Amino acid sequence: MGNILILGGGFGGLIVAERLAAAVGGSNQITLVSPSKKFTFYPALVQLAFDECDESEITFDLREKLNRIGVRYIQGEALRIDKAERTVEITGPDINGEIRFDHLVIATGRHLATDTVEGFFEYAHHLLGTKAARRFGQAVENFTSGRIVVGLSPDSRLPVPVCETAFALAKKFAGKIAAGEVYITVVFPGSLSEAFGGAQLHQQLEAAFAKHRINVLYDVPINDIREGEFFSSKKHRIEYDLLMLIPSFRGQALFRGAGIADENDFVMVNDKMQVHGLEHAYAVGDIVAFSGPKFAHMAVRQAEVAARNLIAELNGESPSEHYYHEIATVVDAGGADSIYLHYGIWDDSLYRLKQGRFWGWAKDVHDAWWQARNR
Ligand SMILES: Cc1cc2nc3c(=O)[nH]c(=O)nc-3n(C[C@H](O)[C@H](O)[C@H](O)COP(=O)(O)OP(=O)(O)OC[C@H]3O[C@@H](n4cnc5c(N)ncnc54)[C@H](O)[C@@H]3O)c2cc1C
Repeated sequence: MGNILILGGGFGGLIVAERLAAAVGGSNQITLVSPSKKFTFYPALVQLAFDECDESEITFDLREKLNRIGVRYIQGEALRIDKAERTVEITGPDINGEIRFDHLVIATGRHLATDTVEGFFEYAHHLLGTKAARRFGQAVENFTSGRIVVGLSPDSRLPVPVCETAFALAKKFAGKIAAGEVYITVVFPGSLSEAFGGAQLHQQLEAAFAKHRINVLYDVPINDIREGEFFSSKKHRIEYDLLMLIPSFRGQALFRGAGIADENDFVMVNDKMQVHGLEHAYAVGDIVAFSGPKFAHMAVRQAEVAARNLIAELNGESPSEHYYHEIATVVDAGGADSIYLHYGIWDDSLYRLKQGRFWGWAKDVHDAWWQARNR
């Protein structure tokens, strides 16, 4: 019986756990380690902030879910990987010690590097967690007039919630925006195409922003936030009354120590999702050192590839499944301006862009399906 250890209980870790449990669970011990007992459906955090759903609808108990499929859950955080001994040091309520693995799957998501922008912690809201989203929602609720700025910090890899937040704000304050009492601005550190991994959607997205009276600023790499104003490394000074920024993304320092990460601590893998320099190990999701934005659907597809290859290994076959890096996302503009984008980051000949009310609705249906399947 082999020990399969999965680090992380988000989209990537959960899908790997499900696939492995179904295919090889009877003959292997599968353990998933995660510091949070809760799975959070991040794509719905904008809706949570704007009170369009309850926290209980977008989170569920991870231990219960894993118990049902025969996967052991350990509440804890991975601190260190010993490649020679093939162990991971874990700390947490369930264990303080080492777990040995024959096969490892890394799915720990990214680290939010709020410290790369001076004053972020003190002055900016963000959306990366249920508490943070509700705090921002409360600040929006209390907002009466002035400038609201939403944006991406440099090296942040999450453009969709920034755009969706801007559209949700524009809808909420439509009357006050028309009366010149509220101003909404979206800030990107580079170009729109850079934020979306090279995809060209500025024509449609800019038209939608303009229609909803949302101002857009490009090439504003924010590096210093103070009360009521922030600065960029390109000498901009911008005033705000309410600020929501997605922090910079980094990998996790524990992987640097193991020699399997790039200079930003993202884990290096090949297109079979196998980790460079560590045998029988896979990595999936936001922690992977692939270029471009990070999306849940990528984590899910990478998890499918990793699981199939790992199952092949366990069956004595050669892993042969390849991952292809592409974006398939909906930017929900709350109506006819919603955009569906399908774009090949590794091959820009794949490019499809559609617009219409249907796409916002399709995203809602897809989100509801994802949440329901996990209950
Ligand atoms: C506000 C918001 C809106 C979004 N909107 C969309 C969208 O519309 N469409 C889309 O496709 N994507 C969207 N995303 C992105 C998507 O949520 C992520 O790409 C996805 O969650 C990545 O999955 P993951 O499994 O890699 O990481 P996560 O889902 O972050 O899971 C990581 C897991 O690892 C655990 N962990 C962390 N550190 C350790 C450690 N040291 N040891 C063990 N476990 C650890 C965490 O507790 C967590 O369980 C959005 C994200 C946010 C925040």
